[in-house]
Formats: sequence, structure tokens, C-alpha cells
Amino acid sequence: MFKSICVFCGSSFGNSPRFAQAAAEFGRLLARRGLNLVYGGGDVGTMGAPARSAMEAGAHVTGIIPKRLNALVEHLGLSELVVVEDMHERKALMQERSDAFAALPGGIGTMEELFEVWTWRYIGYHAKPVGILNVGGFYDGLLGFLESISESGFVDPRILADLCVEASPEALLDSLEKKTMEDPRRLNKVPERSGG
Ligand code: AMP
Repeated sequence: MFKSICVFCGSSFGNSPRFAQAAAEFGRLLARRGLNLVYGGGDVGTMGAPARSAMEAGAHVTGIIPKRLNALVEHLGLSELVVVEDMHERKALMQERSDAFAALPGGIGTMEELFEVWTWRYIGYHAKPVGILNVGGFYDGLLGFLESISESGFVDPRILADLCVEASPEALLDSLEKKTMEDPRRLNKVPERSGG
């Protein structure tokens, strides 16, 4: 059972209120399961929604934000706000402080964060489950592209299957929890070695 989950989502609201609604629902449900939330800090776009609802439902919410962005965004009065030097430090700390990762609908920042934690899992830098919340088929186009690059021989189908993909917050939390039992080293083509 994991204790804290990192959520990546948009710094915009998207073109439908369903994105912020799903993000808020995800925050509420993770809090009800006794999980803590780690996210990018700030009240911007859909990022504010899970933070607000998780706090209202009693979760400890940690925002991790680089100082440059911190000066630009609105704040929510989080349980904890960690201001770091830059994006590299932010992502390292997000990984350290979280036991699982979920990407909700978002833009290129969200995609970059998703692909980093997913890649780092399969090459063996961490063993934490990674998933996406496919709200209303938001991720279908990306999943189709990933299938096609897998067919081209660049992505092992087991790596695709390792990503938890669910349409509802409840199902995604269940799926991430189940995935914590699996050993990602089975995906790792990189030989074991010590050091970075
Ligand atoms: P995007 O998906 O391009 O909207 O970017 C959202 C992701 O990038 C979030 O998960 C954040 O980690 C980061 N990000 C982008 N803009 C901001 C911002 N103004 N404040 C805090 N984090 C941001």
C-alpha cells in the first residue's frame, strides 16, 4: 500500500469543465484512501483542483515549486510548500516524496513529467507505479501513437502494458495500488550496475 501520490496535471483548464471536475474527484478520493498528495504547488489551471479537494478531505498536500514559478502563481495555503531552485530539483524531490504517479489531462509539461517517471521506472531508477487518468478518452490519441511506435519496435509491449490507464479516478487508484506489487525490474533491459 502506498502513502503518497504525485499528480501531474495542466496549468490550463482545457476546453471542458470535466477536466477540473475529474482532477477534483481524484484529489477527494485519494484523501479518502488516506493518501497524501504531492503536486507542482500553486493554484493554476487544473493543478489547483486536486490540491484543494484533497485538503478539504483531510489529506496532507505538499506543493513543490521552483522559485521562478512560485513568484508567478496564486497560492492555496497548502499543508506544505517546498520552494526549490529549479525544475530538476523539483522533479527529483517529487520522485523522492511520492510512492506512485498519476498524470491527468494536461499539456506538454504534464507529458514531460509523465514520460520521465515512466521511463525512469522501466530503466530501473525507481519501482513506483505510473498511470494516467484517461478522462473522456483524452489520452486515446497518445496511446494510439504509443501502440504504433511499439509496433515499429521501439517500445517493448510490456512497457506499454506497465502503464496503468483508467477512465475513472477510483479505478486508477485501484490499479496503481495493485501495480505496487509488481517488480518493474522485469522490464529493465539495462544490466544491473552500481551508481547513477
Ligand atoms: P502543462 O501540462 O504544460 O500545462 O504544464 C503543467 C505541468 O508543468 C505541471 O504538472 C507543473 O509541474 C508544471 N507547470 C507548468 N506551469 C506551471 C506553473 N505556472 N506553476 C507551477 N507549475 C507549472
